[in-house]
Amino acid sequence: MIRLEHVSKIYKTGDVETTALKNVDVTIQDGAFVVILGPSGSGKSTLLNVISGLDTVTSGTITFDDIVLTDLTPEQMTAFRRDHLGFIFQQYNLLQNLTVYENIQIGADLTDDPLPIDELLDQVGLKGARDKYPYQLSGGEQQRVSVARSLAKNPSIVFCDEPTGSLDEDNSKKVLELLERLNEKYRKTVVVITHNTGIGAMADDVIKMNSGRIVELTHNPVKQAAH
Ligand code: ADP
Ligand code: ADP
Repeated sequence: MIRLEHVSKIYKTGDVETTALKNVDVTIQDGAFVVILGPSGSGKSTLLNVISGLDTVTSGTITFDDIVLTDLTPEQMTAFRRDHLGFIFQQYNLLQNLTVYENIQIGADLTDDPLPIDELLDQVGLKGARDKYPYQLSGGEQQRVSVARSLAKNPSIVFCDEPTGSLDEDNSKKVLELLERLNEKYRKTVVVITHNTGIGAMADDVIKMNSGRIVELTHNPVKQAAH
């Protein structure tokens, strides 16, 4: 479980201060599929970045089970991120001179306890593309490779910052449905920032942000009952 208590983030650029998060309190349960929605500039990326330790908080605490993440040194946080967290961004960040299989292998090589690459290839619908190179794939396919790569490391939590930002509606829907399916199958906590409001129906929790605050927090009772 991840718990944020009174988390604030103020960016200082010269003498300009931007409050990106204002006293945010929220709990994310293990295995939840969490969607973060909100207009541009509302603090979505900052929220994800402070939870995942890519950025520091200005005040407040973040805990993961009984580890106080906001008390870790940068070195300890880097180790925590390596051992426990997976990331998917709008850019696929695949290595162009490696095959699909080899790109996923990079994720698997980060741990002693990877998820099986062939099974992941099957899960993301790319069994037939294992020996292809990224440039031979569509954007949607490339993003599915990066999903498989992030899962191969067998993280506890997968953070996705606008994973469908470069995709058309059809491919976006496919990638989001894939994340939801993998959340169910592997019981990974998945936290997704998206502009695709239709995804709310799949989520366990929907966090709506505005001006650095959580303005609405929804538990999806239908999906909860199905667990
Ligand atoms: P999005 O709206 O897609 O979340 P942004 O374009 O706002 O992304 O931000 C992209 C990256 O640039 C983020 O990592 C964010 O932390 C950083 N960023 C956003 N706004 C600023 C800013 N005013 N000054 C410096 N960096 C920024
Ligand atoms: P969102 O992801 O919802 O678009 P962000 O978290 O990227 O929002 O940004 C929240 C606010 O913080 C915005 O006003 C943005 O300009 C500002 N911001 C984000 N990152 C930085 C940064 N590195 N430096 C300065 N301001 C930033």
